[in-house]
Amino acid sequence: MNKCWVCGGDLEAIKDKPYQYKESGLNNVYLHGIIQYKCCKCGEEAPEIPNIEELHLLIGKSIICSKGYLSAQEIIYIRKELGLKSKEMAELLSVTPQEYSKWENSKDLISSGCDKHLRLIFILNADYKTGKVVHEGIRFLKHMLLDKKAKQRKTDDQIDISVSEWIKPSGTPLFNEDCFANC
Ligand SMILES: [Zn+2]
Repeated sequence: MNKCWVCGGDLEAIKDKPYQYKESGLNNVYLHGIIQYKCCKCGEEAPEIPNIEELHLLIGKSIICSKGYLSAQEIIYIRKELGLKSKEMAELLSVTPQEYSKWENSKDLISSGCDKHLRLIFILNADYKTGKVVHEGIRFLKHMLLDKKAKQRKTDDQIDISVSEWIKPSGTPLFNEDCFANC
């Protein structure tokens, strides 16, 4: 990046200033050690942010490892990282879209059960395969959505497991798309 993308003026590189990463949708995230460019002519500023995918995963991790209920901004952040619409997230958490939207609009505090559920959904997806791609895992999560007419499982619903299934080469993930192949 040599010239201003707005006016073509010369750019100054700033290295020692934390960058408030508002583009994340969160007001409290500051990035340190990155280069920011500022136009000497028009004042336009832009940061150079490497590995955005990993950065977003790390921000998600710091959110879900934090104490206290998730804030509205954090709930929105996690949902967007998972690539879900509000309606889909409401369905996944088994609440109405109206109830869910109150949490994203700061009108209500998220319930403690859903707060935990949301964090677990993120962990499950973040750990999928390499842990780098958050969006992919959600495909099989959707299989977990319960049919509203579904009945409770019977105690005599048989679970068949053969030895070859638990004696597997190490590194095989316990949960992957195969789990839900028969759903
Ligand atoms: Zn400029």
